[in-house]
Amino acid sequence: MRICGPGIRMRIGHGFDSHEFRPGIPLKIGGIVLPHDKGLGGHSDGDVLLHAITDALLGAIAAPDIGALFPPSDPKWKGADSVIFLREALKRVHDAGYSVANVDSSLILAAPKIGPHATAIRTRVAELMGLHCDCVGLKAKTPEGLNLDNAAIAHVAVLLQRRRNSPRRPRHKPAAKKKFRK
Ligand SMILES: [Zn+2]
Repeated sequence: MRICGPGIRMRIGHGFDSHEFRPGIPLKIGGIVLPHDKGLGGHSDGDVLLHAITDALLGAIAAPDIGALFPPSDPKWKGADSVIFLREALKRVHDAGYSVANVDSSLILAAPKIGPHATAIRTRVAELMGLHCDCVGLKAKTPEGLNLDNAAIAHVAVLLQRRRNSPRRPRHKPAAKKKFRK
């Protein structure tokens, strides 16, 4: 029995990402620059939250992940604005016939404190995703007991819903009942 397919009404996606703190680069989280003495190194601008959201969106429609679409080995993406990746994932979600219902995220990092910036991050993420702020969850945790004070980690879950005007797959016609012959 087929239990999933293009016609499914809702899809869930999960994304995870982590980056190491490095001195001398700006800290970007959720598309905004936060005041801190270190930034996140690695792929593109190191925006750990946008990367995890991008992967959650791509995962929800079973598309190739961020590393496959934008390989870190390609110099083209060195220092790139991660909004580019998010926009590509949103386009793919749209083309697959879905819109984003809501997104929830957890950031795990020792510093800086996210609380004072949480509203600004949620507002920016909502704006980038075409959502209301109430549809963007953000929790911040410290990595207690993990010995990961020099890293930032993001976990994200997204829910997609099929767009009302999206073309549906033709329904499978039930086989006509056989007439009983007398
Ligand atoms: Zn990343």
